[in-house]
Amino acid sequence: MNRAHKNSASSNKSHVFRAYNDYKNLYARSIMNNDDALCDTCLNGLIKTGKKLRIDVIEYENELKNRQQKKTLKQASGQDAPLHKKPESKDIQPSIAGQNSLKSIRWKDNQRLVLKFSRALRDNELNTFVLNYTKKNKYKKIYDIHAILSEKTMELKHSSMKNIRLAQFDKNTLRIVFENDSEIMQEYKVEGRELTIKMSSVNRELSYIPLKQNLSKKVIVIDPGHGGRDAGAVGYRNYREKVVALQLSKKLRDILFKRGYTVHMTRNGDTFVKLRDRTHFANKKNADLFLSVHANSVPKKNWNKAQGIETYFLSTNRSERSMNVAAIENVDIGNMKQGGMQDALHLMNREKIFASNKLAIDLQTNMLASLRDNYESVSGNGVQSGPFWVLVGAQMPAVLVELGFISHPTEAKRLVDHRYQQQLAVGIANGVDVYFSNNP
Ligand SMILES: [Zn+2]
Repeated sequence: MNRAHKNSASSNKSHVFRAYNDYKNLYARSIMNNDDALCDTCLNGLIKTGKKLRIDVIEYENELKNRQQKKTLKQASGQDAPLHKKPESKDIQPSIAGQNSLKSIRWKDNQRLVLKFSRALRDNELNTFVLNYTKKNKYKKIYDIHAILSEKTMELKHSSMKNIRLAQFDKNTLRIVFENDSEIMQEYKVEGRELTIKMSSVNRELSYIPLKQNLSKKVIVIDPGHGGRDAGAVGYRNYREKVVALQLSKKLRDILFKRGYTVHMTRNGDTFVKLRDRTHFANKKNADLFLSVHANSVPKKNWNKAQGIETYFLSTNRSERSMNVAAIENVDIGNMKQGGMQDALHLMNREKIFASNKLAIDLQTNMLASLRDNYESVSGNGVQSGPFWVLVGAQMPAVLVELGFISHPTEAKRLVDHRYQQQLAVGIANGVDVYFSNNP
């Protein structure tokens, strides 16, 4: 408090700013401790320093006024006056001229929370402070942003953090509170309209609720490739594609389910399912996405050469490379004529191809981002399109993920490793989240 008082009198702007933050910090503490005297002092300090910094302090002035009225009433009536009511979020009018509003919020890779606003954030529109209760193992990091949220309070989740809340704190302030049982180390940066907050812990699973949608309404069909008499690719140490695909799919199912999606699998055990029946199943379930999960392979003489994650979507455009992969994955169709595929491809509409392409990009990007924290050498071969029978007939965006080469000695060892599978599944789930947040 002494430091705040001293700094508030300074002519140096950064000292005043520090004082402002100190007051804010102490103000929050005073509310929690019901310390009226401290509360008044802090409000006065906030108003004084805020004005110096040209920060909008009208809310603090109102609060102070209310407190004084309440005190007068209390003295007059000898009992508690009704509490001043905070404005309900529905009373907030998002149309105030020049008011900044939150447009979107999303997770980037595994550890960055990105908030995008309707206009650029100015220097004095973001204040951060910490509240640490070391004895209670309660640590908070708070971001106050001069902006509005048109939605209700949101719970955001990141497994490195006990709690993350985003809410309209008062008429002009959007508040994000990170709470944890150990000290919170975060970095943040403002770039134009974006505020990026980097979590301290890496490689944790995360989930979040995108702004304007209800995930529980989204239906996802996961299709573990092959199964039963069809082992798929058999690679290094005779590891089998059908086993890896199912193990990964189960992990993905659990993560997506936890995040609120409705999830179905085309197979839950080691059973044979025809290629055509897989998309039929997804259509019957009215799925919003169809994800076919596979592992790639090459002939033994090339085992050491081919590796990397790749994601495919169905399209008339194809490379020689994707034709080769498609030829392996299409084995089940056997004698099906090439003409049949041409017909199927011509029936597809542009929008669905485009949506599948976007989905493939989101999955590919997020798989690599999720893995690279721990597995630096992981490589990706990008997004490609090709004539995959398993994707034909899907009435929703549909992609085929090749988790890696089960024929490559290093990659195969990872593919059967449950920790690696989990991290890969988290990456796919993040990709699904990102896809829906951009394409609600
Ligand atoms: Zn396969």
